[in-house]
Amino acid sequence: ILLHQASFLQSAQRLDQCPPDEGREVAFAGRSNAGKSSAINRLTGQRSLARTSKTPGRTQLINFFSLDDERRLVDLPGYGYAKVAKSKRNEWQEHLDHYLAERQVLVGLVLMMDIRHPLKDFDLMMLEWAAQANMPIHILMTKADKLKFGAAKSTLLKVQSQLKGHPAPLSLQLFSATNGTGCDDAWEKLGEWLEI
Ligand code: GDP
Repeated sequence: ILLHQASFLQSAQRLDQCPPDEGREVAFAGRSNAGKSSAINRLTGQRSLARTSKTPGRTQLINFFSLDDERRLVDLPGYGYAKVAKSKRNEWQEHLDHYLAERQVLVGLVLMMDIRHPLKDFDLMMLEWAAQANMPIHILMTKADKLKFGAAKSTLLKVQSQLKGHPAPLSLQLFSATNGTGCDDAWEKLGEWLEI
């Protein structure tokens, strides 16, 4: 599948360093430690693709992975990275806002939330933005393997009901990078957005 062909393209700190605003892009966002890198690696079938994003110095960058000439995955800076000063964090926030606001080719946003810590401020902020931009947002409730299936399922239903009536065009599912839960559903969503 095309997602398995993902390869690192480039990093950008500012909008003018991004690849040309052409084709289609799906971006991944999440709080630090939500399991974003593991999810990207799992979905692309590549053990260390998103490691590039964890390289010190690259953590605050927007990282682009290309699937083919017209399709890209975008790893947005993890939010709330503890080891960095507040001023630096605000700087990332600005880059993130800028990317989200300006990028024409963004067709959907995947939001990773640790199933044990759902709907934190950052997540609500992303949902607000998606609502306001009318951007589809697909939530992966990650690390689902950390809970028994019944508990994971009931957490999903609970979050679903908390988000009922939210104006963002949203969908959500369980996901585990460890055992592959939800991979097929996530691929389907990415395929739909990227027209694969
Ligand atoms: P990121 O900061 O959002 O990129 O998060 P990482 O992908 O680096 O994951 C943070 C931690 O959670 C790491 O220790 C991962 O091994 C662990 N982790 C990520 N995904 C899963 C998962 O699906 N299941 C379990 N059990 N652990 C996970």
